[in-house]
Amino acid sequence: MSAKSWLRSGAAAVLFYSGITAPERRARRKLSIATFHRVLPEAQRRAYPFPGLAVTPQELDAFLAFFNHHFDCGPLSVQHERHLRREKSAKPLLAVTFDDGQHDNFLHARPVLARHGIGASFFIPVEAVERRALLWHDRLGFAVQSLLERREGAARLERLLGAAGLTASGDGSAARSVARDSKRLSAGARLRLVDELVHAAGTDRTPEYARLMTYEEIVQLSADGHEIGSHGMSHRMLPDCDESSIRYEVSESRRRLRERVGQPVDSFCYPNGDSDSRSAAAVGAAGYRRAVTTDWGANDTDADAFRLRRFDMVAQHAADSKGAIAPAVVAFRMSGWYPGLR
Ligand SMILES: [Zn+2]
Repeated sequence: MSAKSWLRSGAAAVLFYSGITAPERRARRKLSIATFHRVLPEAQRRAYPFPGLAVTPQELDAFLAFFNHHFDCGPLSVQHERHLRREKSAKPLLAVTFDDGQHDNFLHARPVLARHGIGASFFIPVEAVERRALLWHDRLGFAVQSLLERREGAARLERLLGAAGLTASGDGSAARSVARDSKRLSAGARLRLVDELVHAAGTDRTPEYARLMTYEEIVQLSADGHEIGSHGMSHRMLPDCDESSIRYEVSESRRRLRERVGQPVDSFCYPNGDSDSRSAAAVGAAGYRRAVTTDWGANDTDADAFRLRRFDMVAQHAADSKGAIAPAVVAFRMSGWYPGLR
C-alpha cells in the first residue's frame, strides 16, 4: 500500500467516524445517485477488457449495505419525485442506477438488490438489445484483446490506430486507452475503426457473459419493481448527433421501451454521460421527466432535472488496504471533501 493511499484511508476513517463525511450530514436534503455498469464475478472481471467498469456481486453487496445503512434507497423515478416534493425522510435519498443493460445485471445484480430490498433503475440501449449486439466499446475491447494475442498483433494494432490518427499505448491496458482515445473520433470514424479491429482480430465472437439483456429479462426486472429507463438507441453520444438523430435516439427509444415493457419510461441516461443544451432540450421535449449525466456530485432541489449528477461506483477507488469496499472511503468520496472530484 502506498503512503498516499494509506493517508487517504486514514483521513477517510477519521472524517467518517467523527461524523464529518457521514451521509446523514453531508447528503441531507440532497438527491444522491449511484452508478454501476457491469456486475461480474472476479474471474470474469479479470478477463474483461474494462475491469474498472465492473464490480463483483460481493462488492455490490457491500455498496448496497452501506447505502441501506446511511440512505433511503430506491429507483430514480421514485426518489427524484420525492426529492422535488421536498419530502421529509429520516435518511437522505439515494437512487441506485445501472447503465448499459448488460445481462450480468440481471444475473448478478438482481439477486443482490432483492436481498437488500432495494429498487433500482436500469438504463437500456434499445437498438443494441434488439440487435443483440454488444456496445461499441465492448466490441472494441474484445477485438483489441484478441488481436494482441495474435502473432504480429501489436504491430497490426499500431498500424490500424495510426491510420485512424491515434497512437497505441504500450502499457498493457491497450483496450482501455484505445477506447478512450477513439472517443475523439467522429461517430462514423469510430465505428469504422471498431469494424477494422474486429476484422483484424479475425473474430467477433465474444464471451456469453458479455451479452446484453433480452426484453424478457428487462420485463422481469420491471415486474420486480425496478425502473426501466432509456439509454438511447445505439449508445451514440448525443452532442455528436444532428437534430434528427438526437430525436430518434431519445424519442424512439422511449416509445419502444414503453411498448415492450408496458410501463412509463420517464428517465433518460446520456450515453457516455455526454450532454449539451441541445440534447437536454430534446430529452425534455420527448416527455422524459429527468436525465442523468456522469458529472460527479449530489443534487440540490434546484438542480437541473435534465442534467442530474451521479456518483460512479468504482470498486478500486472505494477499497481499503485489503481490497474490501470501505464505508469510510465511499463516504469520503461522496462527501465533496475528496480532492480532485467535481
Ligand atoms: Zn453507457
